Amino acid sequence: MWLLTTKQQPMIEANNPSLKSWIHVKADSDFPIQNLPFGVFKRDQDSPKVASIIGDHVINLHVLMQEGFFEGIELPSDVFDQNYLNPFIATGKEKTNAVRERLSELLRLENQELQTKNDLKEKVFIPVAEVEMLLPVKVGDYTDFYSSEQHAFNVGSMFRDPENALLPNWKHIPVGYHGRASSIVVSGTEIHRPKGQTKSKEQPSPVFGPTKRLDFELEMAFIVGKSTSIGESVATKDAEDFIFGFTLFNDWSARDIQTWEYVPLGPFLAKNFASSMSPWVVTLEAVAPFRVSGPEQDPKVLDYLTYQGDAHFDINLEVFMQPEGSQETKVSASNYRNLYWNIRQQLAHQTVNGCNINIGDLYASGTISGKNPDSFGSMLELSWNGTRAVTLEDESQRLFIEDGDTVTMRGFGSRNGVRIGFGEVSNKILKAK
Ligand code: MN
Repeated sequence: MWLLTTKQQPMIEANNPSLKSWIHVKADSDFPIQNLPFGVFKRDQDSPKVASIIGDHVINLHVLMQEGFFEGIELPSDVFDQNYLNPFIATGKEKTNAVRERLSELLRLENQELQTKNDLKEKVFIPVAEVEMLLPVKVGDYTDFYSSEQHAFNVGSMFRDPENALLPNWKHIPVGYHGRASSIVVSGTEIHRPKGQTKSKEQPSPVFGPTKRLDFELEMAFIVGKSTSIGESVATKDAEDFIFGFTLFNDWSARDIQTWEYVPLGPFLAKNFASSMSPWVVTLEAVAPFRVSGPEQDPKVLDYLTYQGDAHFDINLEVFMQPEGSQETKVSASNYRNLYWNIRQQLAHQTVNGCNINIGDLYASGTISGKNPDSFGSMLELSWNGTRAVTLEDESQRLFIEDGDTVTMRGFGSRNGVRIGFGEVSNKILKAK
């Protein structure tokens, strides 16, 4: 058996590790034939098109559609001639999976349908370096959870008390808050240092100015692929039917603004100036080989949060920091499996009160920190609230992020000789406007 399977997840032929493509793919590529994620690109003056990617080549799905390669899958003729993936996602899992399976078939070594058509290949396959990748999804609503126990423990230890680091609700509720969708940007977007009110303990009254404690948060996000109506709830056993795929997610944070503003209603301007996501949405089906069991949950969770099977994912996550004009330094290596609450529990909790969800909604995991200090998912934790500096390759030191720094997050799973990657979410910080 070449694939880990669960009751929910029958064998997926496109995931077969023995598949080889007639397109050259480097061994360390994030995008072998077994991945085939979806995104949106723009080239020159052409309008945006929906694409997949293999190796270093974007695959223009609109051209393939026009040439009849998706015959037999009932799709609107303009479903790939779009600014966002939403209309494609809205066609439903059966069809989006059929497109991924068909692409896989067309790209296999033994398949001649596309391989032999040289003129057409030039229109379909475009070097990724020649295109601009756009925000893949029009995000309607965005929720950020707080699902890593180590992260919650670290923050609680720093700001309250290591003996009572977790608040009493934490192991009963997948804690979250509603974020801001309008400022979600794609990898590559430059971000100005935000300004706001801060007040340190020493200051008698607040001051206004650029944040001095700009931070990243290493997160993963899932994109909803099926809507519900107000009043409906999604059970944990059905939750994955509602999940299209995953991206890397950086939930930028201004810690000094956050400290002053967050009582009593939680994060506001410290979080909503920007959040960034990677341009490729890796399908839930493509990450099936990386399923792992979650931690034992003690105390027992309420019935609506119970689940069966493997709902966590073994995905390596890394954060790199690169000062202007210098090389990058890996500052953290964590893993998506370092979550206490999984995607099924998050979606069940989000909807248990009848809150409706829509195609294109984004649910972020919260900062993902592991046990070891080198696996912490934010500068707040890596520098332990600004008390111990992180030294970079160029000998410069960081407590938080400085102007000109580029923060890059990468992620990949690896099983049976196949590496399924997420590409990267990489953004440079500019000085305050
Ligand atoms: Mn967050």
